[in-house]
Amino acid sequence: MSLERSIAIDGPAGSGKSTVARMLARALGYRYVSTGDLYRALALEILRQGADPYDEGSVVEVAKSVSVSVEPAPDGAQRTMVEGEDVTALIRSAQVDSIVSPVSVYPAVRAHMVKLQRAIAEDADVVMDGRDIGTVVLAESRCKFYLTASPGERAARRQRDYAAQGRQVGLNEVREEIAQRDMIDSTRRVSPLTVAPDAIVIDCTAMSPTEVVAAMMQVVGGADACSTQL
Ligand code: C5P
Repeated sequence: MSLERSIAIDGPAGSGKSTVARMLARALGYRYVSTGDLYRALALEILRQGADPYDEGSVVEVAKSVSVSVEPAPDGAQRTMVEGEDVTALIRSAQVDSIVSPVSVYPAVRAHMVKLQRAIAEDADVVMDGRDIGTVVLAESRCKFYLTASPGERAARRQRDYAAQGRQVGLNEVREEIAQRDMIDSTRRVSPLTVAPDAIVIDCTAMSPTEVVAAMMQVVGGADACSTQL
């Protein structure tokens, strides 16, 4: 286990990070970690407590007082917990979607989350996805990817995810929602979504998840950091 050998995947909403991260983790025998689920769990708790997501002090207080965690699920997926309660399904709601980026901008929230995420990666080889993994959380990683796709394709993918969860949302609405989230994520002061200088950018607009994972495996196989695992 080492932070250098772990794999970082960043990218905007709907780029397919979690699908390929999970597949890549399975192929390598690594643990899959979606860091967005930790921020989503915090957003859920803010809603439950009736705290104001736009009040920094209230959000930081909740972040520091409530235990959020993620653990591997049997099918290679991830289970998300708040104070021991399984909230995996609850963190996908429209209400959580609407406040998760605003609560993720506060520096003290991010510092707290980065600590949790680094502790996970110190304990296991991970494929970790998020917005600041290659730039901050696993800055030491020697395998970094930035996954992107056209806005139309990302909206269509997100719309299909919603449909699979039983949520019917119009394409324009999804497009606006992810544009808004990307804008907040990439313009925040602390650890904005950006391409790490040593990341490999993959535009997967016209690629299947299997093709993306195959491309990633070639890079992983060629990197000193990961080659011993293959
Ligand atoms: O990955 P997902 O889309 O579920 O992430 C939800 C939100 O959590 C992102 O839009 C972003 O605001 C926040 N996030 C973050 N840093 C990460 C992962 C997610 O700020 N490493």
